[in-house]
Amino acid sequence: MYIDGEFLGTGTLASREVHDPGTGRVVGALPLAGPGEIDQAIAAAHRAFLVWRRESPLVRSDILRRAAGLIRARASEIGRNITIDQGKPLHEAVGEVVSSAEYLEWHAEEGRRIYGRVVPARSPDVQQTVLREPIGVCAAFSPWNFPFSQALHKVAAALASGCTLVLKGPEESPSAIVALAQAFHDAGLPPGCLNIVWGVPSEVSAQLIASPLVRKVSFTGSVPVGKHLASLAAAQMKRMTMELGGHAPVIVCDDADIDRAAAMLAAYKFRNAGQVCVSPTRFFVQRGAYVQFVDRFVAAVKGIRVGYGLDAGTMMGPLANERRVATIDALVQDAAANGAEIAVGGRALSGDGCYFEPTIVLAPTSEARLMNEEPFGPLVGILPFDDLDAALAEANRLPFGLASYAFTTSTRNAHRISRELEAGMVNINHFGMAPAEIPFGGIKDSGFGSEGGTETFDGYLVTKLITQLN
Ligand code: NAD
Repeated sequence: MYIDGEFLGTGTLASREVHDPGTGRVVGALPLAGPGEIDQAIAAAHRAFLVWRRESPLVRSDILRRAAGLIRARASEIGRNITIDQGKPLHEAVGEVVSSAEYLEWHAEEGRRIYGRVVPARSPDVQQTVLREPIGVCAAFSPWNFPFSQALHKVAAALASGCTLVLKGPEESPSAIVALAQAFHDAGLPPGCLNIVWGVPSEVSAQLIASPLVRKVSFTGSVPVGKHLASLAAAQMKRMTMELGGHAPVIVCDDADIDRAAAMLAAYKFRNAGQVCVSPTRFFVQRGAYVQFVDRFVAAVKGIRVGYGLDAGTMMGPLANERRVATIDALVQDAAANGAEIAVGGRALSGDGCYFEPTIVLAPTSEARLMNEEPFGPLVGILPFDDLDAALAEANRLPFGLASYAFTTSTRNAHRISRELEAGMVNINHFGMAPAEIPFGGIKDSGFGSEGGTETFDGYLVTKLITQLN
C-alpha cells in the first residue's frame, strides 16, 4: 500500500497471496487495508488536496512529466512483472507501460489548458466569470486486465486537474500499481496526492464512497459492479465516471477488403487473450463474404501460439484467473449444445495455468449466452447477415454500448453504420480508439464519462460562477 507518501508492506496487516496465472505459482503477498488504513488514506488525500488544488498547473505538469519519464525508463521491468502477475505476453505488457507514459505526458500538457471563461454581462457594472475547479478527493477502482494503463488513466486525469485520490487496484495483479506509485513518489509528487490501498473490494469501496471527504468515484470493471457502485455514489450525490463492460459488434460488409479485415481482426481480437472491454466479440458478416471471411479468419487464428507470457514467440498468454477459464468454457458448451459449430479451439488446456484456446464459434443462435453475455476472453461468435438493417438491429440489441467496428469500402455504408450503431466508439476499417487525445467511453449499460481527449477532465472539475457588481 502507499499512504501519505509511505509504502506499507504486509507487516502486521492481513495479507493475500498473488499468483502467476501462467504457472499457478505464488509470486508474492499483498497487504490488505482495514478501516483504519482506509481512513488514513482518505485523510491524507484530503490534506494533500488543500495544497495540490492551489498548486500551479506548471508545477503539476512538471511532476507528471517526470513520472512519465521514470515510467518509460522502467518499462521493461514493470512489463515483466505485469506478465508474471497478469499473464499477457511480455511485448504487450511493455507496450501497455510505454503507451501509458505517453498518455501521462499528454495529460501533463493538457492540464495546463483547463480554462474558465468570461461571459459578457447585461450590465456594464457586472462581471461574470466561470471557473472550473478540481472536485476534490477521488475514489478510484481499476481492473486487472490493463493493470497499469487503466489505473494511470484515472491518476493522470485526477492529478492534472488538481484532485487527489485513493486508488484501489486489482488485488490479483498488483505489481503495476505499486510501480505506478513508485514512479510518482520518485518524481516528487507530494505525500497524500496519490494513495494506494488493497483489501476486500466491497468493503473498501463502501467505506471510500461513504466518506464525506470523497467527492468523486471512478470505476473501470464489470457492469454489475459498476451499477452497484453507482447506486452507492448516487445516494451520496457523488460525481461518477463509469467505464464498464462491452460486447462489441463487428459488421463486415461484402464490399470490404475481406482478407485484410480477417487478418486485422485475428491479430486484434486475441490481444490480452480477449480480456479487453473493447474486444470485438460478435461478428456479423454479409452473406456474400461469409465463407471467404471465415476461411481467412480461422486460418489466421489457427496460427496463434498460446504459451507462457515470458516465452519468446508467445502470441497469447493465459487468462488472468480461473474464473475466466470457467466462464469461457461454459459459454462454449452452451453454444455447442444449441447447435453452433466450433470452428477452432473450444477447450481449456490441461496442466498448470489458466490457458484456454483461441475459439471461434460459427452461427450461434441469438439466444446463445455467447451472443448476450460479455465473454471477456478469447472467444468470438460469427453470424452471417443479409441486409444492413438486420445487422444493425442485432448489433444494437444488447444493453451494452462501448466499442463497435465496421469494415466497408462504401462511404454510404460507413456513414449509415457510424450514425446508427449505439456505441460510445465506432471504428471503421481500423482500430483507432487508443490515443490519449481522443475520448474513450461508453453509453447505455457500458457507463458514462470519458477518459482521454479534452473531455478527460470533465469528471474531475466542478463549475463555479462568480458574478460581481462593481
Ligand atoms: P468482477 O465483477 O468480480 O470484478 C470486476 C472488477 O471490479 C475487479 O477489478 C474487482 O476487484 C472489482 N470489484 C468487484 N466488486 C467490487 C466492489 N464491490 N467494489 C469495488 N470494486 C469491486 O469480475 P471479474 O471476474 O474480476 O472480471 C470479469 C468481468 O469484469 C468481465 O466480465 C468484465 O465485464 C469486467 N471487467 C471489465 C473491465 C473493463 O475494462 N471495463 C476490466 C476488467 C474486468
